[in-house]
Amino acid sequence: MTLSKADVLVIGGGPVGLSCAYSLLKSGRSVTLIDAREIGVGSGGGNAGHIVPSHIVPLAAPGIIPTALKWLIFDAKNSPFGMKISLAPEYLAWLLQFAAACSDSNVQRGIPPLKALGLLSARNFAEMIAAEGFDCHYRETGLLFLYKTEAAFAGGQHEAELLHQHCLPAEVLDTAAVHAREPAALEDVIAGVHFTGDASLNPARFLHLLAERVRALGADLRPHTSVTRLESAGGKITRVITAEAEFEAQQIVLASGAWSPLVARGLGLNLPVQPARGFSLTMAATQSMPRQALILGERRVAVTPLGDKLRFTGRLEVGNLSTTPNPKYIAQIERAVREYIQVDEKLDIQETWAGLRPTTPDGLPVIGFSPRHSNLILATGHAMLGLSLGPGTGQVVAELANGAQTAFDLSPLSLARF
Ligand SMILES: Cc1cc2nc3c(=O)[nH]c(=O)nc-3n(C[C@H](O)[C@H](O)[C@H](O)COP(=O)(O)OP(=O)(O)OC[C@H]3O[C@@H](n4cnc5c(N)ncnc54)[C@H](O)[C@@H]3O)c2cc1C
Repeated sequence: MTLSKADVLVIGGGPVGLSCAYSLLKSGRSVTLIDAREIGVGSGGGNAGHIVPSHIVPLAAPGIIPTALKWLIFDAKNSPFGMKISLAPEYLAWLLQFAAACSDSNVQRGIPPLKALGLLSARNFAEMIAAEGFDCHYRETGLLFLYKTEAAFAGGQHEAELLHQHCLPAEVLDTAAVHAREPAALEDVIAGVHFTGDASLNPARFLHLLAERVRALGADLRPHTSVTRLESAGGKITRVITAEAEFEAQQIVLASGAWSPLVARGLGLNLPVQPARGFSLTMAATQSMPRQALILGERRVAVTPLGDKLRFTGRLEVGNLSTTPNPKYIAQIERAVREYIQVDEKLDIQETWAGLRPTTPDGLPVIGFSPRHSNLILATGHAMLGLSLGPGTGQVVAELANGAQTAFDLSPLSLARF
C-alpha cells in the first residue's frame, strides 16, 4: 500500500469539497482531493442549480411536520415528501431531534448564519465565475415562486415580509404581474413571489469547470478513491485509509455529504446527518422555455432553464441512501410541472437522476473543527443548499485551516451544538 503525504486532504469532490479545495489553493495551501466516485459529480451535478441567498429559514421550522403528514396521509400520490421506514437507532434519534427542532427558536437561531453564509456564497459565486470565465449558464434572474392557491400565496407573502425584515429583496406579484414576469405560466397561476437576489446555473457544467480549475491550480485529484477508515491518536487524525492508498495530512476536510457519518464512523463523533433523496429529469429545451428559475409553490418542484436544456427537480425522502432514480417519482415531478407551466406534450428527456441532500436535524450545516480532532475540519450537512452555500463554505474552511478570522461567527454551525 502506497503512503502519500498531503498538506490538506479534502474528502469528497461534490460542490462543498471542490469549493473548499478552490479556496484553500487560492490561499496558498497544497490540496489533495479524493472521492469514491468521479470528482465534480457528487450529489450536485443533477440538482436544480439554484443559488439562493433568499433561503434563510432552516428546513426544521414550525409547520413542516404537519404539512408533511398531511401530504403523506391525504395525497400520497402527489406528496413531495417521503421517508424510509427503519428502526435504526441513529435514524430514529435523527427524526426525534428533527421534530424537536421544528420551532420558532430554531428558525431565529438559524437565520443569522444562513443569511451570512448565503450572501457570502452568492458574492463568491459571482466573483469566481467572472474571474475564472466559467461558461455555466450563470444567470442573476432570481427565483420566481408560482402559486395556484391563496393559502400557498399567503405563505409566500409571509416569506417575502421576513426577507424584507432582514433587508433581502423579494417582490410580491399579483396575477397580471406574475404572468408578465413569466409568460410560460398557465392561466390558473394566481400570483407569485420573485426572490430577485437569487441566481441559477448549470450545476454539472459549473462543477466540471471548478474541478478543472482546481486541478490547474495544482491539486492532486484522486477519483475512485474511497475512504474506508480514518485513524486517530492523541486528538488528531493520523492516517486516512482507502483501498488504493493511505494518506497522512496536516489537515483534513470532511466534505463527503450524506456519506459523512459513514466516513467518520469509528471517530467517536456524533455526526447526525441523514440523506434526503431527491430526483431530477433533464430534457432538451422546450418550445416555451421559462424565463427564469422557478419553484412551483404547492408542489415544491423546481424548474431550471439551462440554455439548450430544461430541468425539473423535486421530492425529499429522508433516510434513503440509494442514488437510483425512481421512475414513479420522476413521473410525479413531470405531472406537477404540467400543472403550472406550458411544456411540450412530448418531452425529449435526456437524463433522469437521484441525489442526496446531507441533512442535519436542525437544518443547518456543520462547519468547524471536530470537537475531538485538532486537524479535522467538518464541512457537511448543507441539506438542500449545498451548491448554493458551497463557495462561502470554501472560504470559511480555508480561513479556519489558516488560523485566520472567519468571515462570520461559525459557532452556531459547530458540531458541539448536538
Ligand atoms: C433533487 C435535488 C435538488 C437540489 N437542488 C439544489 C439547488 O438548487 N441548490 C443547492 O444549493 N442545492 C441543491 N441540492 C442540494 C445539493 O445538491 C447538496 O446539498 C450538495 O450536493 C451537497 O454537497 P456536498 O459536497 O456536501 O456533498 P455531495 O455532493 O454528496 O458530495 C459528496 C462526495 O463525497 C463522496 N464520498 C462519499 N463517500 C466517500 C468515501 N468513503 N470516500 C471518498 N469520497 C466519498 C461522494 O462520492 C460525493 O462525490 C439539491 C439536491 C437534490 C437531491
